Amino acid sequence: MNTLTMPTKLTGEDIAQSVRPTRAEAEAAVRTLLLWAGDDPDREGLVGTPDRVVRSYEEFFAGYEIDPVALLERTFEETDGYDEIVLLRDIRLESYCEHHVVPIIGRAHVAYLPHRRVVGISKLARVVDAYAKRLQIQEKMTAQIANTIDQVLQPRGVAVIIEAQHQCMTTRGVHKPGVAMVTSRMLGAFRDNAETRRELLAMIAGSGNAGGL
Ligand SMILES: [Zn+2]
Repeated sequence: MNTLTMPTKLTGEDIAQSVRPTRAEAEAAVRTLLLWAGDDPDREGLVGTPDRVVRSYEEFFAGYEIDPVALLERTFEETDGYDEIVLLRDIRLESYCEHHVVPIIGRAHVAYLPHRRVVGISKLARVVDAYAKRLQIQEKMTAQIANTIDQVLQPRGVAVIIEAQHQCMTTRGVHKPGVAMVTSRMLGAFRDNAETRRELLAMIAGSGNAGGL
């Protein structure tokens, strides 16, 4: 690669096209980490591990291949004037801490106040995945999900609340299991109107197990 033509700030597309290693290089890197951990990568139990880890990475980091804006572009306008809160509660969230590359596991609540159009509810869950399945910090992920919904749907308000456990805190470092980190980003009416925000928080606290309906 000609380093003189490397852009100073790489976009995802640059990485995909120019600096992304081959699959064999990725597997070799895993083998190095197995050696570093102190084990023998050639023993029977580990010989297929580099391949399996690289496949796992394809799942863990599938979000880089998803365009969250495109997910939200198809909307429906036949809502009979529905303009109250739309809330998707308890969306399972699996992400990966960008500092330690270990899981962040939790749930997200995503709400918006429609302005003339709505989006298929599964799309909100897909937007969560598109940003979660990347190397992340929870604060940035929360803001990215809310900002994208705000920019594409242009609703009267957006709220994203994420509560999650960080395995870099539970299985290493300070070793504090059971600690949840909660982040929220409120835009539009959810930020400006205390009544609307209260209504949302009551809906989230709501009846709990909708699966039992
Ligand atoms: Zn971490």
